[in-house]
Amino acid sequence: MKTIVTGGAGFLGSQLCDLLLEKGHEVICIDNLVTGNTRNIEHIHSERFTFLKHDVTKPIYFGDKIDYIFHLASPASPVDYLELPIQTLKVGALGTYNMLGLAKEKGARFFLASTSEVYGDPLVNPQTEEYWGNVNPIGPRGVYDEAKRYAEAITMAYHRYHKVDTRIVRIFNTYGPRMRINDGRVVPNFIGQALRGEDITVYGDGSQTRSFCYVSDEVEGIYRLMMSDYTLPVNIGNPEEHTILEFAQIILGMIGGRSKIVFKELPVDDPKQRRPDIGKAMGLLGWEPKVGLEEGLRETIEYFNYIVRNSRQ
Ligand code: NAD
Ligand code: UDP
Repeated sequence: MKTIVTGGAGFLGSQLCDLLLEKGHEVICIDNLVTGNTRNIEHIHSERFTFLKHDVTKPIYFGDKIDYIFHLASPASPVDYLELPIQTLKVGALGTYNMLGLAKEKGARFFLASTSEVYGDPLVNPQTEEYWGNVNPIGPRGVYDEAKRYAEAITMAYHRYHKVDTRIVRIFNTYGPRMRINDGRVVPNFIGQALRGEDITVYGDGSQTRSFCYVSDEVEGIYRLMMSDYTLPVNIGNPEEHTILEFAQIILGMIGGRSKIVFKELPVDDPKQRRPDIGKAMGLLGWEPKVGLEEGLRETIEYFNYIVRNSRQ
């Protein structure tokens, strides 16, 4: 099996490369390193692994056959995509278009990494795949949300009109080793702050909710979806929902130390609630998360502890 992973030097992409290599795939990792890092793949010494530094908004051609394309390339942290608004729109639009074109040419199966952000600031909770969402197209987060919504639309168009075999996952907040400690997302922020004894920055009053999925569960769900025959979007996430204030208290309780919780301004359009309905993933893929929050956080804290002690970014 010859398999492309775009965004393969990022957090989720690199973990997916590991899983695919374990399953016997030949893996071509394509990444322009805008938010990823070759450190995430430096442990891979397999002859079945190749890294190509390439921006997927530019076309790419392969002579050989390709069986699967996992398209994960995109800035994913709100801080990253607010700093890289045009790149984010381009990778969602042109990057997805180029990878769909490659899939069509090669007869490969195409997989889009979409997001719970397509639901925007959801008016229903939990979110089912049938919910169309509540997105502000012109707000600062629109660059990511609309790029992913467009990516879903063009994926379904290639599926319907060009008969490309496609899959779409809607990933809910996922955390674990290889997240960048300074990527601005809540897990690296809170853990990094607690490990350094700094204040924990809760945005708003902390009553907004999120549901956190450990990375090994997420990539297992992604793999199962790719190998299934279901072509409509599927939520993959952990339905255990916490307020962000509770989440800060859990992390503080696990790490201890002298940090205190401080409240900062809530970012514009920050969703008030987010929790996946995973009925489809359970029914169609036999998938449900296995790693509890405390266990996942213990692994993640250990990883960030190493990073902080060795002051690697
Ligand atoms: P990440 O920033 O660690 O990884 C993204 C990777 O894509 C990086 O390595 C980056 O360098 C690469 N990339 C970006 N633009 C590119 C381009 N034009 N050409 C080539 N490579 C490019 O983020 P992540 O958390 O691993 O997210 C991976 C995917 O999963 C993204 O598509 C993201 O939208 C999606 N997702 C992640 C989460 C999550 O909680 N982690 C939630 C929802 C969706
Ligand atoms: N958040 C926070 N403090 C931080 C970073 C994030 O309170 O230092 C909040 C953020 O406002 C949001 C939630 O944590 O409500 C999750 O944020 P993240 O950036 O991880 O991802 P999102 O789910 O918003 O895409």
